[in-house]
Amino acid sequence: MTFNTPAMRLSIALVLLTINLLLMANLIGLVPDKSKSALKMRQSLSESLALQFCAAAEKGEFQTIQNTLRAVVERNDDIRSAAIRTIDGKLLALEGEHLLHWKPPVDGKSTPTHVNVPLYMKNKKWAMVEICFAPLWIDTPASGFTNSFIGLVAFIGLGSFICYFFLIKKTLRELDPAAVIPERVQKAFDVLQEGVVILDEKELIVMTNKAFAGLLGKSPKAMIGLKGSELGWLDCHTPDQIRQLPWFKAMEGGKEQKSVSLGLRNSSGNKIKLAVNASILTDNLGKRQGTLVTFDDITQLEEKNFELSYLVEKLQLANDEINGKNRELEILASCDPMTLCLNRRSLGKRFDALFTQAKANQEQLCCLMADIDFFKKVNDNYGHATGDQVIKAVADVLKTATRDTDLVGRYGGEEFCVVLPELHIDQAVQIAERIRQTIEKQSCSGVKVTVSQGVSSIEFNAGKPDELIDQADKALYAAKKGGRNRVITWGKEIDAESEDNDGEETQEQVAQPEKTETIDTDQAKLERRVLELEGLLKKRNQCHQK
Ligand code: GH3
Ligand code: MG
Ligand code: MG
Repeated sequence: MTFNTPAMRLSIALVLLTINLLLMANLIGLVPDKSKSALKMRQSLSESLALQFCAAAEKGEFQTIQNTLRAVVERNDDIRSAAIRTIDGKLLALEGEHLLHWKPPVDGKSTPTHVNVPLYMKNKKWAMVEICFAPLWIDTPASGFTNSFIGLVAFIGLGSFICYFFLIKKTLRELDPAAVIPERVQKAFDVLQEGVVILDEKELIVMTNKAFAGLLGKSPKAMIGLKGSELGWLDCHTPDQIRQLPWFKAMEGGKEQKSVSLGLRNSSGNKIKLAVNASILTDNLGKRQGTLVTFDDITQLEEKNFELSYLVEKLQLANDEINGKNRELEILASCDPMTLCLNRRSLGKRFDALFTQAKANQEQLCCLMADIDFFKKVNDNYGHATGDQVIKAVADVLKTATRDTDLVGRYGGEEFCVVLPELHIDQAVQIAERIRQTIEKQSCSGVKVTVSQGVSSIEFNAGKPDELIDQADKALYAAKKGGRNRVITWGKEIDAESEDNDGEETQEQVAQPEKTETIDTDQAKLERRVLELEGLLKKRNQCHQK
């Protein structure tokens, strides 16, 4: 039981006020004193007896005195015993066990229980009437308390406190703001599917509707007076977490809170998710009166959302897979599977675009054709599989030596075409020379090979990509003719020569850039012939074996 409630404080104040009034009434003598009136009654009885006895004694009617004394003792329960004693101590009359009860007062003055009244005859005191009364209630603590003023104060204090407390509690309930809400308003709120709660400034529930109370398995009335933060919100235990509750934030910042997600365990013990809105309620003067909080059960929506995001994630994965496959397909469609260089079709398409762009922007563009020297010999000597590895190794060198913006395509079996946009012919020749040297120095799958290359540029006035390729091819042809393992730039001389000696190899070199090594043409021819013969022999042996 807490003493700091309004009902308790009001009750104590009223009790103190009542006791004060009682004390004042006592002070001005408005409170009757039972002991005093009893004493007064005893005094007047004793005095009237004394008067009667005096009159009888004057007349000498001592028998009447004795009879009266007997009658008084018999009829009055309050009197235990009585006697008349002469001044010289002689007992004239004795009623009840007077000798047992009577204790003469020390100073001769009467007490509430022992009353001494003098009897006069001819103005002379001749005897005393001794009356022994039953003790007054104040003689015992219990009866003294119940008959005293303190007892009265205690009774009034305690009794009034109990009455005031319950009365005030009831009154406060009557005055409760919740009771002020008209029933039709409550009914209107009850119709809503959405949970509605009105909180006062101290976060106490003033009103709630059936939808919200039902979530907690309670009636709207039973919810009144409960604290908004003490309804069992999930993950809301620390003061910091409690301060984050939307109605607190609305109260603190005065700003409406929207769609705040809160978890709650409902009356069935299941976790539910609620979307909470909170806005401040103000009176006509704009003074804050409380907070209106609405709750939307979004548990199912959340579950569906979760399912949906799971499906979306799955779909995304499937999409990624499809995209990956598409990319693979695209690579397969545009690349040569063995070397992963562009295939001839894709190379042609992209070359067309670069060529058109270069022409339009009057930019540089070079084309380089490269062919592995004496490749048949490699196949014949090391087998086709090794031949493939050599082709791949040469392709790798071409890709490494060029930029990402360049095109490297497999043009034929062991022949490659490289397109170099925005490069001047000298730069293209430099690249070709670098390629030639790299291949010459390295060993491709244990096989040493060389490449011959022909280079041409858009600046030699090719009208279309095929023409540029043709120029580079003719330069390549010249390189082959010139002894292989070299780079030849296209020039008019080559053109004329190739037209004149089409199909014939010549030792004449039309254009010969930095060449690290020259191969004697006759020697090359011889080697080539030997290789061809070796190849033929090998093939014949294979046929015989089969
Ligand atoms: P050169 O070019 O120096 O005049 O002599 P070469 O021996 O290289 O002659 P040519 O270009 O005519 O021969 C190319 C050979 O390459 C013919 C073919 O059997 C072989 N070849 C073509 N494609 C492939 C391939 O994908 N793999 C392998 N291993 N060999 C191939
Ligand atoms: Mg070749
Ligand atoms: Mg070839």
